[in-house]
Amino acid sequence: MLQPITCNNYTIHFNEELYTRLNKHIDSHFYSKIFVLVDENTHEHCLPYFLSNVQTNLEIEIIEIEAGEEHKNIETCSGVWNVLSELGADRKSLMINLGGGVVTDLGGFVASTFMRGIDFINVPTTLLAMVDASVGGKTGVDLGSLKNQIGVINVPVFVFVDTKFLNTLPSEQVRSGFAEMLKHGLIHDEKYWDKLLKTSGETNELDNLIHESIVIKNKVVMEDPKESGLRKTLNYGHTLGHAIESYFLQEPSKPTLLHGEAIAIGMILATFLSHELHSFPVNKLKTITEVFIQKYGKVQFEPTDYERIIELLKFDKKNAFGDINFVLLEDIGKTIIDVKVDNDLIIKSFEYYKNH
Ligand code: NAD
Ligand code: ZN
Repeated sequence: MLQPITCNNYTIHFNEELYTRLNKHIDSHFYSKIFVLVDENTHEHCLPYFLSNVQTNLEIEIIEIEAGEEHKNIETCSGVWNVLSELGADRKSLMINLGGGVVTDLGGFVASTFMRGIDFINVPTTLLAMVDASVGGKTGVDLGSLKNQIGVINVPVFVFVDTKFLNTLPSEQVRSGFAEMLKHGLIHDEKYWDKLLKTSGETNELDNLIHESIVIKNKVVMEDPKESGLRKTLNYGHTLGHAIESYFLQEPSKPTLLHGEAIAIGMILATFLSHELHSFPVNKLKTITEVFIQKYGKVQFEPTDYERIIELLKFDKKNAFGDINFVLLEDIGKTIIDVKVDNDLIIKSFEYYKNH
């Protein structure tokens, strides 16, 4: 059995014991009504199974939003606030967010602001939401093309991780979430990284790895909830990864990259920079490059692309005072934060990727 994980003010429960815990919580909290937020895909694939496990006499209302990052905005929140109000939600209502990171981020924000905050529970249904978005208390929505610009830090009363939901998740989404797990290995624990490389992906094994990944993320968040130091390490591969993701989204000639595919490239580039600036071992650089290219494929870049991607780095919200800060590695599990890297070296990292 996967042990519950204690986070700041809430716990994460897994698989078989989760529904007992959920039903007990609902039973003992005198809620007035339950609202389950889904998107169209989790409505179809996850809701029937989820509801079949919930035992309560309370009325359950379903609220559906459209799937996709483009709907993670304040207009969708308005829609949900209105529906909550029309359906008679009050301060004693409970909201359950059943979905990927879009549903848990948006639902967490809606619940945190409706009537100055009602209880919410996150039930992540994508790998990314399980190992990343469900831990740490960040909720929020996008403002135009600016990601996560509006939001609050607020924790759910529980997170319930049922890995059965992964059975219906498209394989490219599973792969994308796996990139965050590989990141946890690189920034925190070489033994965990090695285990990830060896896994056959068999369910039991994957469940244990998911659990371990959440433990790592939670440990980092608990040590630095305000992101003044250690928490920044979770941004490994994301400085260039985010810029690449946005650039590919804007460029009609480029394929759309999933978040995990973009940060896989970002992690290769960051590891190259780590080698150049902090003597990251060359043999490990080679392995990491090969692992990511084998798993996530190789994307073609032209020199004009590099320039435009470097331009986009300036919009990264994590840059303090106009500086572009990187997280780099001295070795696997040994991070250095707030490193400045000049543009020529960034171009050299793209050349390394291209020629590999
Ligand atoms: P997502 O929520 O868009 O889900 C991806 C796709 O999978 C969607 O089409 C969804 O409908 C579908 N889906 C979800 N579960 C399914 C299932 N079990 N079966 C079939 N289809 C299913 O995207 P995501 O990758 O889960 O999350 C991305 C979001 O998470 C981003 O908005 C990002 O900003 C956010 N995020 C937040 C944090 C945080 O700390 N709060 C951390 C990382 C990412
Ligand atoms: Zn990420």
